[in-house]
Amino acid sequence: MCGIVAYVGNRAVAPLLIEGLKRLEYRGYDSAGIAVRTDTGEVSVKRSVGRVSNLEALIEEDQAGVQGCLGIAHTRWATHGEPSVDNAHPHVGKTKDGHTVALVHNGIIENYSALRKYLEGKGHKFYSQTDTEVLAKLIAELYDGDLETAVQKALQEVSGAYAIAVMVDSWPHTLVCARKGSPLIVGVADHAYVVASDASAIISHTTQVFALDDYQVVKLCAGPEDKVDGTGEPWSVDLRTTTIDNVPVDHEITELEMDLEQIELGGYSHYMLKEIMEQPEAVRDCLRGRVDLRDGAIVLGGIQEFKRQMVRGKRFILTGQGTAYHAGLIGEYLFEDLARVPARCEYASEFRYRNPIIEDDTIVVAVSQSGETADTLAALAEARERGAMSIGVVNAVGSTISRETDAGVYLRVGPEIGVASTKAFVGQVLVLTLLSLYLGKRKHMSNERVDMYLKHISQIPEQIEKVLKQTDHIRECVKQVANRENWLFLGRGYNYPVAIEGALKLKEISYIHAEGMPAAEMKHGPIALIDEGMPVVFVATRGTQYEKVISNIEEVRARGGKIIAVATEGDTNIRQYASEDCIFYVPDTLEALQPLLTSVPLQLLAYHAAVERGHDVDKPRNLAKSVTVE
Ligand code: GLU
Repeated sequence: MCGIVAYVGNRAVAPLLIEGLKRLEYRGYDSAGIAVRTDTGEVSVKRSVGRVSNLEALIEEDQAGVQGCLGIAHTRWATHGEPSVDNAHPHVGKTKDGHTVALVHNGIIENYSALRKYLEGKGHKFYSQTDTEVLAKLIAELYDGDLETAVQKALQEVSGAYAIAVMVDSWPHTLVCARKGSPLIVGVADHAYVVASDASAIISHTTQVFALDDYQVVKLCAGPEDKVDGTGEPWSVDLRTTTIDNVPVDHEITELEMDLEQIELGGYSHYMLKEIMEQPEAVRDCLRGRVDLRDGAIVLGGIQEFKRQMVRGKRFILTGQGTAYHAGLIGEYLFEDLARVPARCEYASEFRYRNPIIEDDTIVVAVSQSGETADTLAALAEARERGAMSIGVVNAVGSTISRETDAGVYLRVGPEIGVASTKAFVGQVLVLTLLSLYLGKRKHMSNERVDMYLKHISQIPEQIEKVLKQTDHIRECVKQVANRENWLFLGRGYNYPVAIEGALKLKEISYIHAEGMPAAEMKHGPIALIDEGMPVVFVATRGTQYEKVISNIEEVRARGGKIIAVATEGDTNIRQYASEDCIFYVPDTLEALQPLLTSVPLQLLAYHAAVERGHDVDKPRNLAKSVTVE
């Protein structure tokens, strides 16, 4: 999910790789490493936890040990195994004839445990907890003198997502790279090739690039042209692109025209927008290897050992702060509705200090993007002290919450840089949905019902894509109301927490005062606020409470409020209540899954409002990305 840089050419590779990794730092990562094929014919690997500068210091201590012109480098955002030197990439494998293969990988190998068993049976010894090491060993196992063939064969056995760069000590001038699902760009320079996850690490070398497509493998050779006269001159470069089935494919080299800042942001104007737009992929990553539509299986490795305890759990307490608290509120509905187990969501800060009652078989679920939220950590400690079993729902692998909980499910949505959380929220809701279904399936849900849910969940990425296409439409609507200082966000059932989260997003980045609440609650007081033109955002999707929400819309309209509605695609009725330019449609799905879609237009709404008001969306005033004080 993070960064790769690889180089084969005529220059000393180690400093060049470090420079490339520094350019990828903005993507977020937890550890880094490089492998160089040294002039003495070995593969030398250096890895460290933390900043690239730590790795740089390691290399400076041993410059002689990394002399060479072929190398691969990586910044890791852990998905399998905590951030540690052993888990950092590159990973290596030994071939049957004693050669060393080194590999860096971004993505997730879904079938890694079966492959690992197979390879252990073949005598390979594993040193990390990663899914990646399996791929390094598999390529080594299949290596029969030809690296390209070994990579192709290995990838035929693999399911999941990958961008990889691979080298072997016996091929001093060749790099083999491939991709499926994770980006990889090849830069074609004079006498060299530079490969990276994005163009920011390439642009200082060349502007001539091409992107690999899914299931493509590229073999890049840059070295002395021995065939000419045997003197090592002239330098020759050569590349070949194939599919993983070895069918040659064409690649079209294009000229890079972006500046560095634009590249880092992937062409978006802010990280927040980039992360909103990344959500289809983030959801795919979160689901990868966890949902099997063929047999209705939900595989959550991190709770495997505790599944019996969880099924026996009599009460769930979800806890978090801010956006994570809102995800927890949706979790409350999900656990009760799908798993049929009592659940409540609490602010961690309040739970911690009010002498909470923890009965037997209570399970506490701590929700946090960073896994370092101080209030949530304190609540977790309190709950554990009182005997609760604990589960972490966090994004950052190896973070404090993930270490201090008995079990957990990672979000796997990739690093979130924008201060206002977007894709992590959707990831949290999705993980809580999977957890509820996992329990429901073991308690009372029929297989057919679980299958129906899984089928709908698998459609969520494409459905989010459809919602994201409305970004311009949402911006145009926002222009009409961005100058208003007071907004309301209303919803019922599953969409009530979505409404509060929508209001929080707007507050965080546009500094507009917004309140979110259950739609029915409005008439118990807040209705007094409504005056001519006050923006009132309704999450009014089709479902059990649709008619009731419509009544609430009527109440607001009667008082002159400006209705902005999130509605279900095909709902023509809603046009009686809101003007077409302020209706945002989401595809139809099961009610319990609606938050995964309805939260997205509200993220865009907040984003466009903040931009319209001229604020720096990625650096909202007074806010920090992770709140590590109580
Ligand atoms: N799944 C791999 C790991 O956990 C790669 C993570 C990444 O893309 O950085 O090591």
